[in-house]
Amino acid sequence: MRLNAAAATDVGLQRRANEDCHAVAPDLALYVVADGMGGHAAGQLASDLACRAVVSRVSESVGPSSLSERLRGAVASANEAIFQTAAARPELQGMGTTVVALLASGARAAVAHVGDSRVYRVRDRSIRQLTDDHSLVGELVRRRQISPDDAREHPHRHVLTRALGVRGHVEPDLAEFALVAGDVFVLCTDGLTAHVSDDEMAKRVGEAGDDLQETAESLVDLANQRGGEDNITVALIRIEA
Ligand code: MN
Repeated sequence: MRLNAAAATDVGLQRRANEDCHAVAPDLALYVVADGMGGHAAGQLASDLACRAVVSRVSESVGPSSLSERLRGAVASANEAIFQTAAARPELQGMGTTVVALLASGARAAVAHVGDSRVYRVRDRSIRQLTDDHSLVGELVRRRQISPDDAREHPHRHVLTRALGVRGHVEPDLAEFALVAGDVFVLCTDGLTAHVSDDEMAKRVGEAGDDLQETAESLVDLANQRGGEDNITVALIRIEA
């Protein structure tokens, strides 16, 4: 299957720096989005290291490994790169990042993630979130103690329960599935989902024409129109017939 992809990112209206990072590697059919955290420039460095390490490790992983095993290795390698860098430089201590990655081959794809950046699949105008947020509010939503709307307003909505680069080892969530022509995958950071609902995303993505870039930018614009409280990043990947 042929993949058509576009990505957009913006600092938003309230932050001084963009600590989100994304990588689009069409030759590998690999797409990565990361949302860094940490003081000074540490968040930017963490998300940048994550994107580079995932792309580099996937490009080296060939042979019989499954798509999800290749992503597992790539996430482990990214975790180590960030963790070692932070250990060597005291001013970077505590830096970390989320990561979501989608790797496709033939008619299959795998998704790996750590943290609260998300992957959605839009199929026939209905949207499904493929990732569970590794966050405090994500846990509370899954236990039905609060609603997804409550989660958007929760004072502790930025607290992660899993992040890349903070410990020596991290376990990503992995999923592998069949691709269907017409599917659109949305990889995004919480700066988008803080302001744009799943239904709104499904509508814009479902109505997207040939120019996916325009759709990606329109989603970023919408988040900014509603306050742009955080950095915003979105990658769209459409499976063409
Ligand atoms: Mn964010």
